[in-house]
Amino acid sequence: MEGGDHLAHERNKAEFDVNEMKIVWAGSRHAFEVSNRMSRLVASDPVFDKSNRAVMTRKELFKNTLRKSAHAWKLINELRLSDEESVIFKYFMDQPGFLDLHWRMFVPAIKGQGTEEQKQKWLPLANKMQIIGCYAQTELGHGSNVQGLETTATFDPQTDQFILHSPTQTSSKWWPGGLGKVSTHAVVYARLITNGKDHGVHGFIVQLRNLDDHSPLPGITIGDIGVKFGNGAYNSMDNGFLMFDKFCIPRDQMLMRLSKVTREGKYVPSDVPRQLMYGTMVSVRQTIVSNASVAMARAACIATRYSAVRRQFGSQNGGIETQVIDYKTQQNRLFPLLASAYAFRFVGEWLKWLYTDVTQRLEASDFATLPEAHACTAGLKFIAKLEGDIKGKGVKNQLKNLCYIYALHLIHKHLGDFLSTNTITPEQASLANNQLRSLYSQLRPNAVALVDAFDYTDHYLGSVLGRYDGNVYPKLFEEALKDPLNDSVVPDGYHEYIRPFIKQHLRSARL
Ligand SMILES: Cc1cc2nc3c(=O)[nH]c(=O)nc-3n(C[C@H](O)[C@H](O)[C@H](O)COP(=O)(O)OP(=O)(O)OC[C@H]3O[C@@H](n4cnc5c(N)ncnc54)[C@H](O)[C@@H]3O)c2cc1C
Repeated sequence: MEGGDHLAHERNKAEFDVNEMKIVWAGSRHAFEVSNRMSRLVASDPVFDKSNRAVMTRKELFKNTLRKSAHAWKLINELRLSDEESVIFKYFMDQPGFLDLHWRMFVPAIKGQGTEEQKQKWLPLANKMQIIGCYAQTELGHGSNVQGLETTATFDPQTDQFILHSPTQTSSKWWPGGLGKVSTHAVVYARLITNGKDHGVHGFIVQLRNLDDHSPLPGITIGDIGVKFGNGAYNSMDNGFLMFDKFCIPRDQMLMRLSKVTREGKYVPSDVPRQLMYGTMVSVRQTIVSNASVAMARAACIATRYSAVRRQFGSQNGGIETQVIDYKTQQNRLFPLLASAYAFRFVGEWLKWLYTDVTQRLEASDFATLPEAHACTAGLKFIAKLEGDIKGKGVKNQLKNLCYIYALHLIHKHLGDFLSTNTITPEQASLANNQLRSLYSQLRPNAVALVDAFDYTDHYLGSVLGRYDGNVYPKLFEEALKDPLNDSVVPDGYHEYIRPFIKQHLRSARL
């Protein structure tokens, strides 16, 4: 390692096998190997560099995302990556873009809600990306309450078409990723109306843009909803708006696995549960739990490593200062986050497991397992499997510690509620706090190894402070010098706005 490992002394303190923990974190040896290989493949390719992302304008960032997406798709094909590998590969690109929505929402919606004929027609095009799709459900006025959507799809028996229409401003589709600038097609959710009767929300495959010059088709108004708060990578995504002005699509573009409209305009429901319609959204929400754990894990990793590098106060006789991570106040901020990252990770894995299990049963038309009871038993099975998979005593002890920290910290955080409802006594509260401090001391020597177990590359972390080797300060300088503000020694604007102060010319200056 260039410059040596500045955190080696921390890693040597660990009381468990970090390689075993990596496998527990990843979910299995296979998952670890795939994730390890894909993350390094991305990190070693200069096209996926993210170092100047913070200084890009939105337009530059968007174009950079298009370039990365095209390069990723080329590599996925050239290297013949499996579906599993492609998903992980795109994930480590760490720059959300239209590929995510195409593969994670558009394609699954057709697979889950399309008839066999519809799948045969649309999936080959989508699989080769000859069409690029998104998922247009949410409207400006309607998010959680899907039944409240206002967009209409009215069947016209004379032309054998559906007429899509946005009757109000609040019915405008608002948020769908990939819609704003890229997608050629969308699965659009709209109220189905036949013979004047409203049958509720259904899905439709809709072409949005011309396949030759990418212009929106007549009757479609479309664009980007604008910059998202913060300097986060989500500005790489073209979340979009969409309005229909009596836009016609053929009848066979209604997704008809769940219910059909005949040539005469008769509505024919099937016995397939309507919950299946929301499967795509549920899948994404399950992924959001996992993503939350990753966001927390990345933050905890950066903060833990830098807290071990950073020294402040505490030296006596001019000796070396204390590592910030040794202060209890810092541990009280940091270790509960680390524990939460592990807790969320396992919840995310469980949800993924449950979702896959239920989806497979639904695909086999086994609808008996939808109820909540199944979720609970599946949860217990998952915990048993996890416990069975963990062999090493060291790893088990660390996970136990993290679990207690997570629980006791929640009590600590909501102490007022626990005390005011007499759930615990003040003596118990005080015991819980003492125990929490003692657990922090037990976690302390393992902290850096616990974040190493996430197996994140420096590329993925994207943080100088969180570097694996802890060689923070020289690299921080290097990065600072790259900032465009440092391109010139005297800044642009000096003559107009700084010099008039110094020369006392402000009163006469034309600002
Ligand atoms: C980054 C991003 C990407 C997205 N991508 C897509 C996409 O690709 N396609 C798409 O169709 N949509 C997309 N969405 C939209 C997303 O699905 C909606 O934001 C979501 O469904 C919530 O709807 P809303 O924003 O209208 O919130 P609302 O439904 O207005 O909810 C606002 C608040 O009220 C609470 N609330 C609502 N109803 C209840 C209730 N009954 N009980 C208690 N609390 C309640 C909610 O929890 C929330 O805190 C995206 C959103 C974001 C932020």
